[in-house]
Amino acid sequence: MPHEVRGVIARSKGAPVSVENIQIPDPGPGEVVVDVQACGVCHTDLHYREGAINDDFPFLLGHEAAGTVSQVGSGVSNLEQGDFVVLNWRAVCGECRSCLRGRPQYCFATHNAQQKMTVDGVELTPALGIGAFAEKTLVAAGQATKVNAAAEPEVAGLIGCGVMAGLGAAMNTGGVTRGDSVAVWGCGGVGDAAIEGSRLAGAHTIIAIDLDDQKLQWAKDFGATHTINTTDMDKDQVVEAVQALTGGNGVDVAIEAVGLPATYEQAFFARDLAGTVVLVGVPTPDMRIDLPMIEVFGRGGALKSSWYGDCLPSRDFPMLIDLYLQGRLQLDRFVSEKIGIEEVEDAFHKMEQGEVLRSVVMI
Ligand SMILES: [Zn+2]
Ligand SMILES: [Zn+2]
Repeated sequence: MPHEVRGVIARSKGAPVSVENIQIPDPGPGEVVVDVQACGVCHTDLHYREGAINDDFPFLLGHEAAGTVSQVGSGVSNLEQGDFVVLNWRAVCGECRSCLRGRPQYCFATHNAQQKMTVDGVELTPALGIGAFAEKTLVAAGQATKVNAAAEPEVAGLIGCGVMAGLGAAMNTGGVTRGDSVAVWGCGGVGDAAIEGSRLAGAHTIIAIDLDDQKLQWAKDFGATHTINTTDMDKDQVVEAVQALTGGNGVDVAIEAVGLPATYEQAFFARDLAGTVVLVGVPTPDMRIDLPMIEVFGRGGALKSSWYGDCLPSRDFPMLIDLYLQGRLQLDRFVSEKIGIEEVEDAFHKMEQGEVLRSVVMI
């Protein structure tokens, strides 16, 4: 029997979100219904509301979530009712050219639930194919990753998006390892997760770079060994400051978590020879970078982009939750506040002001 539950809807471009009754169908083949327990507020939710991603209103927002499986559709063999899961937006297909080459973390044909959730008979577009600011949501079974139920839902859910993007930018894409030096541009949720991932991976020097002293303090709390406030600094001064902290050489891994040409350029020049630049900040279509090609060649190394931290949820989520439960990964530090389902709009404002790392809706 379909369920009627409350969910956070964006009806039209720029309009404040509203909590409305939505309809969740019973799971079809390969689908599950999840009772959502907690869901973090991410910039991507705000981008949907602003019409910056597409025009497929109405949206059901929310996608950084944990909860328990309440119904399982036919043909689902990896989940049972009652399983504690973190939702992901990389349910791999197993059949695309990347999966077939043994690289499912880049799957080019990820899937979502086939059936639609609705509001007043109108099909909803779930954010990132999830839609978890709701008491229940319908997802493809591959979008729900079982993890140790001892983790608190408000902590576990954060692995599902921004925190994974940052951890993975360091650990997967950047390949940070013991003894590396790392610099991270932008110390919000994603950047701080990159710092945390670098610390966990054994980086020796971790330099946090931002314009905001509050954010730099958060970065230190996560394990940054040095901070640089770049207010009033030009590109060369930033590069020199990074070099001064690394024996004059620059960093092994430069992680750009802002998504701006100016900070990307700083990252490019502040890495050591044969170093790696990782772009995890998301640029807009109008942005351009202009780099001397001789430097691209002459410095060697790699310029990489990190999509969702190059994560493979089935591999990474249970492992990261276990590391959290062992006290080796500071996931709880990302939870700035716990809020109710009515408070998403307020949380957007706090996020825009840079007042919080993550507001988490408890459902
Ligand atoms: Zn695939
Ligand atoms: Zn997100």
